[in-house]
Amino acid sequence: MKTISKLKWMIPFIFVGLMLGCAYSRPQNDSPKGSSGSSKIPLSKEKTLGRAFLQEALKQFQFVKDPEVTQMVQNIGRRIVQAKGGNPDNYRFFVVRGSSLNAFAVPGGYIFLFDSLLSKFKNVDELAGVLAHEIAHVERNHAFQDQNKIMAANLAALIAIILSRGEPAVAAGGLAAAADLQLRYSRENEAEADAYAVSYLKKAGFNPRSLLESLRTIAFYDRLTNFEVPIYFSTHPSLGDRQGHLELMLKEGSSSDRFYEFPVDWEKIQVSLKVGEQPILDRDAIVGFGQEGRKKEQEHYLAGIGYRKAGRCQEAVQEYQSAIKILPERAEFHAELAYCQLQLQGVLEAKNSAVKALQLDSEQPIAHMVMGKVFLHEGRPNLAISNFETALVHRPTDHLLQLQLAQSYGQVGEESREAYYMGRFFRLDFKPREALTELFKAQDLVKPGTDLSFKIKKEIEEILHGGI
Ligand SMILES: [Zn+2]
Repeated sequence: MKTISKLKWMIPFIFVGLMLGCAYSRPQNDSPKGSSGSSKIPLSKEKTLGRAFLQEALKQFQFVKDPEVTQMVQNIGRRIVQAKGGNPDNYRFFVVRGSSLNAFAVPGGYIFLFDSLLSKFKNVDELAGVLAHEIAHVERNHAFQDQNKIMAANLAALIAIILSRGEPAVAAGGLAAAADLQLRYSRENEAEADAYAVSYLKKAGFNPRSLLESLRTIAFYDRLTNFEVPIYFSTHPSLGDRQGHLELMLKEGSSSDRFYEFPVDWEKIQVSLKVGEQPILDRDAIVGFGQEGRKKEQEHYLAGIGYRKAGRCQEAVQEYQSAIKILPERAEFHAELAYCQLQLQGVLEAKNSAVKALQLDSEQPIAHMVMGKVFLHEGRPNLAISNFETALVHRPTDHLLQLQLAQSYGQVGEESREAYYMGRFFRLDFKPREALTELFKAQDLVKPGTDLSFKIKKEIEEILHGGI
């Protein structure tokens, strides 16, 4: 457990010198009726503060790297930003480990979500609701409406406040409490964030009621666990009030409305999160959150995923085989089986299973990953590369896949691509310094004016601008 004494209370972060920059106002085309106008704040100030917070967060938070989890959160967040007419590249979405039922936005478009909160949501729409609310805080510059509050705060202290939730022994620090009080969003800001969130959700095609549902879920667990409701930059200072307001706001919606169905196996995400929280699990703990009417093959599949992510491929293989016996036509059953067979050194079995998966779905990314590894094993790096590249289209945030590509390009002597993918690997592994070293190396090696040179430049700019 992190203790307050470990944190650098006595080193105030000096922002004042960094707070210079050119001011410009934001477009005002998305105002819900009756809301106040946005204040004009230079973007660079927000970015500077957010980036400094991120540097501290990289030291103190444990970031979730599971590509299926990170990809989902990013895709939903980006969809919402895009739908409201914003630039998704101005946002970063992170899932961090922690028992706090919290999500928070930091100026500059950095949005953090604790895995505990994510694991409590009943469906992907509730996640969309919370993300929309946090995006609204960023868009409306709520954290910057009283800049003095932010500037007075020590970033390490802020993180301690966030981390301390649910751990009462840590939360007792007087300074933390004082800073916490200072940093609450006002009731008006929360109401405005909810109003904007509803409008964003509608534009993105999500059910706007999902925000209300997410608050109900949080309130339920809040009562159940007796966690103190987190406040700082948080989603829910006054759950009861907010639920009441939202009820009124959402009254007009018709129950027959049809909404966008985000393509995700929510149960699989839940299993990934469970294993992430607690690596050694029995079968009941993995699939015991059971939904009514879940099919037997899905249960085997989910148990397999849980075992596989906990590093227990023997058990996973049995589960996948049971799932395939019931329903042989699902490509991902064969692909996951292949993945585990490969871990258990059965290259031939793995190849057979992957081929079967690809016959059922020629794009199946896990099957392509397995084929890539099999081809590497067979000394055919060019075939490996084409399979890894196909997998990457579907799993762009998979850091291990980037590493595989770096190694494969290394084998065929394409040094610029090797360095580029090493850079991508480090970036997705939350190591910005190592990422930059590799990307600068790639920049020196690449032929100017090529597609790859633009990709390298973009990566470097994003890291320099956004901190990761
Ligand atoms: Zn809020």
